[in-house]
Amino acid sequence: MTTAPAVIGELARSLDARDVLAPLRERFLLPEGVVYLDGNSLGPLPAAVPPVLTEVVHRQWGTDLIRSWNTHGWWEAPTRIGDAVGRLIGAAPGQTVAGDSTSVQLFTALNAAASLRPGRPLLVTDPGHFPTDRYLADAVARGRGLEVRGVRPAELEAFLAGEGDRVAVVSYSPVDYRTGELYDMESLTRAAHRAGALVLWDLCHAAGAFPLAVDELAVDLAVGCGYKFLSGGPGAPAFLYVARRHHASLETPLTGWTGHADPFGLGAHYTPAEGVARARIGTPPILSLLALEAALTAFDGVDLHRVRAKSLSLTGFLIRCAEELLPLGFEVVTPVEPARRASHVSLRHPHAYGLVRALADQGVVADMRAPDLLRFGVNALYTTHRDVLTAVLRLRDLVSTAAYDPTPHRPGAVT
Ligand SMILES: *Cc1c(COP(=O)(O)O)cnc(C)c1O
Repeated sequence: MTTAPAVIGELARSLDARDVLAPLRERFLLPEGVVYLDGNSLGPLPAAVPPVLTEVVHRQWGTDLIRSWNTHGWWEAPTRIGDAVGRLIGAAPGQTVAGDSTSVQLFTALNAAASLRPGRPLLVTDPGHFPTDRYLADAVARGRGLEVRGVRPAELEAFLAGEGDRVAVVSYSPVDYRTGELYDMESLTRAAHRAGALVLWDLCHAAGAFPLAVDELAVDLAVGCGYKFLSGGPGAPAFLYVARRHHASLETPLTGWTGHADPFGLGAHYTPAEGVARARIGTPPILSLLALEAALTAFDGVDLHRVRAKSLSLTGFLIRCAEELLPLGFEVVTPVEPARRASHVSLRHPHAYGLVRALADQGVVADMRAPDLLRFGVNALYTTHRDVLTAVLRLRDLVSTAAYDPTPHRPGAVT
């Protein structure tokens, strides 16, 4: 502990005073008195969403009824909103579709990648990848007679030097969901391509958090969810990006009627639509899609490079507060180096579970990942340095007064 809270409080004030993105906070309906540092799990409610949902429910659904598929653009919603997400991930229009969950989109993307690289028997994934990504890689491998290899991003080059010509796809996230470590998408993408493999990026913890350039990096496929940094609401539709060069030969495993070239022709057999629309499956969840579309307007006119700069300022400040204000027993596990930091900070503490619950009781919402990580997500669109400092000071008070339940995390408990 080297800096007094008053000094660091002054620093928070001056950083917030200089914050050019500060007015964006008004685009969110954050509850009074709550410090919300869990937008990397469920983004808060954007102010644009309730009026749109009211209109969609009462007028489009309630009054205009089935005509709305045409008159209110319901039918095109998956590709239109896909394009809106595309703008945030560096994808030109016509390559991104929104709908279904990330898990479903992963199933589609992994199968499509394997079909695009026939004769290559390996699916490479990160053994530290989010569970659903690992489970689906296993399922797709089983179904297609392929093999999954778990390779950490740091070991990818070496692995590919030996077995690269057997790899169909490298399926990674640019962000470690536990530690908040950011990997170098560009060099990993290049390494996969040098071996003739495709890359599939899971952008759940990246889309909306920092600039992405999927077209420029020649990414093959990407998926991501709508409810984290995009703040599209609980269970918001996920997205799938497929680079245009792969469209003509794209084979999808779930050949639902809305991905058909002529969905209303009612033909006996499946003929895929042109372009990324063939990745559509069934009738899209219109209410959720239109909520996501409204949520994305929170990014209107926002430069994601500025978002990245502020996010780094917030996470850097959080790390500094943790190092200077927290007592022994906490370990910062997120890399301190800015280039290796995404948009959340994780602290290790054996009582993470009880601490996160006690913090929530005090109006500071963070989350934990078993067994011992506290995660603090920042979102440059609404988080302030003052929020970050408040969270660390409350955590410090909890520990110094032992005002929390120190029993370990119970498996199965919702965090
Ligand atoms: C949040 C997250 C998911 C979530 O998948 P769902 O199908 O929406 O439950 C998947 N992968 C990663 C990397 C995530 O961070």
